[in-house]
Amino acid sequence: MNAPIGLPKRPGASTAGITLDQLEIDNTFAGLPPKFYTRLQPTPLPHPYLVAGSASAAALIGLDPAAFSSPEFVETFSGNAVHPLSRPLAAVYSGHQFGVWAGQLGDGRAILLGDVAAPGQPAPGRLEIQLKGSGQTPYSRMGDGRAVLRSSIREFLCSEAMAALGIPTSRALCVTGSDYQVMREAPETTAVATRMAPSFARFGSFEHWYYNGEHDALKTLADHVIERCYPELRDAPNPYQALLQEVTRRTAQMVAQWQAIGFMHGVMNTDNMSILGITLDYGPFGFMEAFNPAHICNHTDQQGRYAYAMQPQVAHWNCHALGQALLPLIGEVDAVQAALSAFGPAYSEKMDDLLHTKLGLSARLEQDTALFEGLFQTMQASHVDFTQFFRRLADLQVERPEADAPLRDLCIDRAGFDAWALQYRARLKQENSDDRGRCLAMRGVNPKYVLRNYLAQVAIDKAQQKDFSETAKLLSILERPFDEQPENEAYAALPPDWASELEVSCSS
Ligand code: AMP
Ligand code: MG
Repeated sequence: MNAPIGLPKRPGASTAGITLDQLEIDNTFAGLPPKFYTRLQPTPLPHPYLVAGSASAAALIGLDPAAFSSPEFVETFSGNAVHPLSRPLAAVYSGHQFGVWAGQLGDGRAILLGDVAAPGQPAPGRLEIQLKGSGQTPYSRMGDGRAVLRSSIREFLCSEAMAALGIPTSRALCVTGSDYQVMREAPETTAVATRMAPSFARFGSFEHWYYNGEHDALKTLADHVIERCYPELRDAPNPYQALLQEVTRRTAQMVAQWQAIGFMHGVMNTDNMSILGITLDYGPFGFMEAFNPAHICNHTDQQGRYAYAMQPQVAHWNCHALGQALLPLIGEVDAVQAALSAFGPAYSEKMDDLLHTKLGLSARLEQDTALFEGLFQTMQASHVDFTQFFRRLADLQVERPEADAPLRDLCIDRAGFDAWALQYRARLKQENSDDRGRCLAMRGVNPKYVLRNYLAQVAIDKAQQKDFSETAKLLSILERPFDEQPENEAYAALPPDWASELEVSCSS
């Protein structure tokens, strides 16, 4: 592992607010053998400008957000100027796409600049910084290496929104844009999104070496990931089995968090699954609105492989694909199976916890499973808005059903709602639930604000006219998803009629 190479600190600089040239950048991944990547420079973006920056993401690496307005910042994060200590590279990986082995993929439009200190973050206490949309690489295949402004804003806002919701995710530092256009369904302007994660290694990074029969490289990668991100597994009797089990557990818990908030990833291919169990590669994602478990958020996913209700089992399938790839290191099929068996319990326990907190229940009773099932049936029968329903549920008062009107009004099937509410009230009485305390607790886990497609679209439409204020405003709202924010009430509204025309696809 390379030691971090430091630039001399400026006198008086505090770690809470360093400037760009004080970032100590290393590239630990570049310490792996050359077959893991291709060293290359980003392709400059003509006349770049800042579209958006996240102060809370900057804080993770101690960067003063005042840096956002400097020309150096825009130059660096558009890929036009490369930090002198950065050793940029594009990594190779493969993957299963829509259940089919797709062979070699790789960073076709992402370039890893290196990793920087992120004090207080989990092991390795560093974050890798990656530019997405910074030009072609040897892994671009037919692609142009670019990302459009639309998808870059979506990834930026969703990464930061998910972090604020408490869901493990890669982070987004900023988006830079350019008037340079590329062709998608129509010509669109391009952008570069800067992402951060402790590691961008994917399930597909491991599958790559397994399917190429390069078990030495497989071991090198697994050792690298364990050493940096899972140091506590180093001394396990079988560290590779422990790795698989921990990734499986984290993935199961992450997907439970997705389900509980109504998040749909859209493209859960193994090349989009993080070895850290964090949400990665935001493309045609969506947040559930009118509740329908079969909802497919990705227009390209005609078969519904990645529909909302499919996400847990697909995540499990993906863990199996990882288990297959790690088999040569783990040794025994039984040991692989044992590690993978962590999925079911981890998912159920997490989901059970989340549903109890979403409903403001303290005790765990056997009958609660039926209560939860009944809840989702009621929500489905009435196609209620997922976010609004849970948020309004917090206002329910045990002894005053007449106060339920705003919640009940969301349901077409009033009788269905009444029947369920009767059970819920009885359950709350059973544990002497206090209305005020429960309301506060429930508001702390059931967000009022999520990144609805139409909200993102309004911000994108304005950004395409060079007005980035709506992107900044939306970010500020989504950074506090559990706060009432009465001044921003409109952002909690149901989608307008025009939003039914919105389609998100793999085009990005
Ligand atoms: P995704 O569906 O975005 O996860 O991408 C799947 C693969 O296609 C990855 O290897 C990407 O790097 C690559 N890719 C997607 N879009 C482009 C593009 N415009 N240029 C080059 N490669 C791309
Ligand atoms: Mg991807």
